Amino acid sequence: MRRRRQAQRLSQADLGGMIGCSQAAISQFESGHTSAISRENQDVLFQQLGIDAKGRPDGMPGDTGTRLMCCNRAGCPMNRPYLLGEGMQFQPLFLPVPIGEQRFCTGCGDPMIERCPNSRCQAPFAPGSAFCHACGTPIIPLPEEYKGIPDPKRLVDSLTPAHDAFLDAQEIQLPTNPSALPAARRSRRAGNPT
Ligand SMILES: [Zn+2]
Ligand SMILES: [Zn+2]
Repeated sequence: MRRRRQAQRLSQADLGGMIGCSQAAISQFESGHTSAISRENQDVLFQQLGIDAKGRPDGMPGDTGTRLMCCNRAGCPMNRPYLLGEGMQFQPLFLPVPIGEQRFCTGCGDPMIERCPNSRCQAPFAPGSAFCHACGTPIIPLPEEYKGIPDPKRLVDSLTPAHDAFLDAQEIQLPTNPSALPAARRSRRAGNPT
């Protein structure tokens, strides 16, 4: 991509200007951080540079042939409820799935998603956060019934056992590295009551 850009005598800032993003984002994208730019904008860039976006492998450099998917239904046992500020939020469980394969949530049956639910963003997921790393949208939208509740802790406590039971049943599919497990589960393993 860098070569194509230089062949057209365009700077990173020029490309950024075309899609309304910073030079830094273009620079990150060129070094393989595909999540630096939304998929739609990637398509614009590839078109501009004359790169066939259809034939483009989903994998840019650094891609391992999988992408992260999650269920984004609030209250699904796959997702971990936690207290956030005055309320609560759900932390999605991101699972690596081979590119091109669709998966359905084993907790609720919904199709799993692979991009930010904000239609103007659609960034692929990065591990870890309950919020999109690109635009800050919660990956799991909170339905009205979970908003503004007087005692969120009670709700979180009531939803947590189903999530723990789900993780126990899914043991085989989870990463074997204990640091990748949710904290509550780690401490249970270590013998601490939680
Ligand atoms: Zn689900
Ligand atoms: Zn986003």
